[in-house]
Amino acid sequence: MKQLASYLAGSWSTGSGATATLVNPATEAPLAAVHTGGHDLAAAFGHARTAGGHELGGLTFAQRGALLATLAKLIHGAREELIALAIANGGNTRSDAKFDLDGGAATLSYYAELGARLGAARLLADGDPIQVGRTARMAGQHVWARRRGVAVHINAFNFPAWGLCEKLACALVAGMPVIAKPATATALVTHRLVELFAPALPPGVLQLLVGPAGTLLDHLGPGDVVAFTGGSATARMLRTHPAIVTHAVRLNLEADSLNAAILGPDVELTSEAGGLFLADVARDMTQKTGQKCTAIRRVLVPEARLGEVAEVLRERLAALKIGDPAHDGVGMGPLATAQQRDDARAGIARLAAATEAIHGGLGEVEPIGVPAGKGYFIGPVVRATTSPMTCAPLNEHEIFGPVTTLGAYDGDPAFAAAFVARGEGCLVSSAYSDDRDWIVGFVTAVAPWAGRLYLGSTKMAAQSPGPGTALPSLLHGGPGRAGGGEELGGERGLRLYQQRCALEGDASVLKSLLGE
Ligand code: NAP
Repeated sequence: MKQLASYLAGSWSTGSGATATLVNPATEAPLAAVHTGGHDLAAAFGHARTAGGHELGGLTFAQRGALLATLAKLIHGAREELIALAIANGGNTRSDAKFDLDGGAATLSYYAELGARLGAARLLADGDPIQVGRTARMAGQHVWARRRGVAVHINAFNFPAWGLCEKLACALVAGMPVIAKPATATALVTHRLVELFAPALPPGVLQLLVGPAGTLLDHLGPGDVVAFTGGSATARMLRTHPAIVTHAVRLNLEADSLNAAILGPDVELTSEAGGLFLADVARDMTQKTGQKCTAIRRVLVPEARLGEVAEVLRERLAALKIGDPAHDGVGMGPLATAQQRDDARAGIARLAAATEAIHGGLGEVEPIGVPAGKGYFIGPVVRATTSPMTCAPLNEHEIFGPVTTLGAYDGDPAFAAAFVARGEGCLVSSAYSDDRDWIVGFVTAVAPWAGRLYLGSTKMAAQSPGPGTALPSLLHGGPGRAGGGEELGGERGLRLYQQRCALEGDASVLKSLLGE
């Protein structure tokens, strides 16, 4: 069986000790093994700090951007091979795999262009000069400078390509070397990407640790950054990790999220806005088998439309073929691991005790093309409640799978906003309405509770990517339960890897420092 190696301190090494096995989640066939330790992580941090930091420090933003453009091309060149790995190791359908890989490549290309635009600057201005003396000669200017540490990127199992690329793009353009740690269960795609990327990058700029983190975080020091995507329990541990606390390591957390979709009272389901709403809800249930951090988990519809919405979802989901995504025609694969399946089952059982069944029972399914009893499958489940605000299992537990719950309301935008807020902070939520007054009432009340608000309407329906697609130009992250982190968002995405400094002095000196 293939033994996965880590890329640390300039060479590939398999480590030593106990092994973990990576499997195909549709068939449970073993695919690769990884040792759970035995790496010289101190050497990896040293290599990043010296070689990686030095190399990136010598490059302009434009030159760093050019590196990213090369990486995007490498993904395109190996696309079919990478899709096959994602189908085998991630339980992805071909379309799920493309979503992950193309999202990663598009994000690299976006930041390549941003780097080109930032050009040869060494410092970036933060706002305009400020007069701080008696005359304009004495000025203040905030600037952003490259941080001089290591960026440790810990990713979740669901986006092994996009997760690697979105964090890497921002860190590299900003000028920080990266040690990437993918989730062990689905590491094959990330591993192959780093095999492709490493020869195209200067030494020490990108390193890879496959397998459990082990003592990785113990090596953190001043100036370092940790960007984490994963579950809230791991996020809680990171917040109090001694090395992070001691060295005030900058920590960005992307965790659980109970994203909501709200149907405005003005929208007919037969209208374009209504069609968009139904398409977004159905897609988010089944794309990546519901294992998207941005997926819609809670749906609020005017009471009079609850039956109609339930009927459409029943029809669409009944037509879905579930099974081994390597088989033609399969529209939804398994969950990524046995643990994820067990967690989703437990979540559905909690939800079932407080809601009514609409579709899919408790997720029982007979998958296509799978040996009997094998695979981590759950069928799509729709539940409904007439008390959405007080339904604790709906508002307090994320079910990371193909599960959604419909709740009824009277169309009040203040209630809709309070319902979104009941999730205690989300990555994204969506509302579908052509009524501008309703939208103003909703958005002003709910904006503090969401990292992104997607406003579906008739006029944008034809060009909408849906709320589940994180865009490099817009913020990805959310308050509260979602971790409080911020990634992407154009130039904002670089800030995690930069230090803001207030300069005070002769206005002409400050101007020249910014290359003006
Ligand atoms: P997880 O168990 O928290 O794992 C996430 C990552 O953390 C993995 O790489 C994991 O490595 C690593 N990890 C676990 N324990 C660690 C430790 N003690 N020190 C350092 N790293 C450690 O989460 P998951 O099961 O992969 O992902 C599912 C969750 O991620 C979902 O609940 C979902 O809400 C969340 N998610 C959020 C976003 C977002 O953008 N906000 C995106 C995707 C997923 P191993 O795999 O080796 O254990």
